[in-house]
Amino acid sequence: MSLPGSTIEAPVTGTRPTPPRAHLFTAGTVEDYRRAVTEGIDRVASRVAGVDRPGTGITPDELAPRVAGIDLDRPLGDTTAALDELHDVYLRDAVYFHHPRYLAHLNCPVVIPALLGEAVLSAVNSSLDTWDQSAGGTLIERRLVDWTAGRIGFGPAADGVFTSGGTQSNLQALLLAREEAYARIVGGGTDRPSRPEVLSRLRIITSTAGHFSVQKAAKLLGLGADAVLTIATDAGRRMRTDELAETLDRCRRDGQTVLAVVATAGTTDFGTIDPLDRIAEICTAAGVWLHVDAAYGCGLLVSPTRRHLLAGIERADSVTVDYHKSFFQPVSSSALVVRDRRVLRHATWHADYLNPARMAERRIPNQVDKSLQTTRRFDALKLWLTLRIMGPEAIGSLFDEVVDLAAAAFRLLADDPRFEVVTRSQLSTVVFRYLPPGAGRDVVDDANLYAREALAASGAALVAGTKVDGAHHLKLTLLNPETTLDDIAHVLDLIAEHAGWYARTRATA
Ligand SMILES: *Cc1c(COP(=O)(O)O)cnc(C)c1O
Repeated sequence: MSLPGSTIEAPVTGTRPTPPRAHLFTAGTVEDYRRAVTEGIDRVASRVAGVDRPGTGITPDELAPRVAGIDLDRPLGDTTAALDELHDVYLRDAVYFHHPRYLAHLNCPVVIPALLGEAVLSAVNSSLDTWDQSAGGTLIERRLVDWTAGRIGFGPAADGVFTSGGTQSNLQALLLAREEAYARIVGGGTDRPSRPEVLSRLRIITSTAGHFSVQKAAKLLGLGADAVLTIATDAGRRMRTDELAETLDRCRRDGQTVLAVVATAGTTDFGTIDPLDRIAEICTAAGVWLHVDAAYGCGLLVSPTRRHLLAGIERADSVTVDYHKSFFQPVSSSALVVRDRRVLRHATWHADYLNPARMAERRIPNQVDKSLQTTRRFDALKLWLTLRIMGPEAIGSLFDEVVDLAAAAFRLLADDPRFEVVTRSQLSTVVFRYLPPGAGRDVVDDANLYAREALAASGAALVAGTKVDGAHHLKLTLLNPETTLDDIAHVLDLIAEHAGWYARTRATA
């Protein structure tokens, strides 16, 4: 017998290696696909059911030899064996965001409709760059961009594109804004300044609580991180608009062009929302592009009770949304949405083999015309099935639950003399620190750092850390509606135990 894809006769006895073609997902292998994927799903399901802490606290030194010890040139040739091995190097010690005591970063538990979407999109494997590689996928993505634009309050000229995350959405927004500013500066004049000269005069403004991806984007856009001017925040950790107005004036006097103001709707650390209406007013008066980074706060777009917190977002020129943060979607799922679709031309490049200009003339929808990526996942399908199965209000009410929980956690901490709590979040973070009685500043810092690490090493809970005005603090990012106030109270007791032990040990050392 001759096997498909093989030129040699298979031996009649003994274990037969599977011919390479049998691994391809084709009409002839759908039963293998069903079996393999079901086996994988079963492993994940039983692991998730058995998880009793968010992480095992394993260290890179412990885990690295296990991964390094695997010979990638000697396949196991068998799904079950590979999944057994995967358990050892990944599933057993992974960090599980669905666990109620995972309280660290902006990672959400994910909804089942989105996992279904993930399974479908990777199997069909559409690529959203061109119509001729996706068909319906392109239309579904476009509907979701339009739907999001509608929730933002943009008019019919709005458009946008899915991206891999907030970092990429912010980069693209600032690229578009840079090109608009550049065109304005060089447009019309006969005495055209050189591009480097123009770039050296461009500035971006954000607050000190803005996301670091703004600085990163400035570097990638040829401006350098110094081109980002940071505005102080008020007591509520929101951008100070008096300083914003002053900075815009100063730039104008100094012959600098502000290509964009980046307002944050949901700062990563404090969950606070810049005063969008006032900032929009200032930007309109100054003729400056307003980008709203709503990577975190976008969940409010579907909140049944808190949509008003985003008032003013409809006045932005561009908005970043991360569905993989507050829409309970698996990574990746993000979009950049712009008020006026014409600005997307700055991301367009016509390639003869892929998206020639004549296709645009014939209005063939090629999403690559507005994307920084070429081959691109059909991430939109996850959100589509989420909306079609659950609906937007169900997502919004899950987000509302964690915002309520954060408010309750804030009160719990404010009433607890062992802790000091910073700014009340408008979303779902809580920033605080343990204050060992009578300890000096260094010990307070170190005790909080120690508590975070000790907690992570035990696997009992995961919390984040950050600095507030130079001092180490701890942070809870609450995105799991299954987390209870009791969970939080318990974690606070553990933190107090670890930090208290550390401070006492230092005092007697
Ligand atoms: C998380 C975050 C980003 C970056 O988004 P990624 O999806 O991680 O790339 C940008 N801005 C804010 C405010 C964020 O919280």
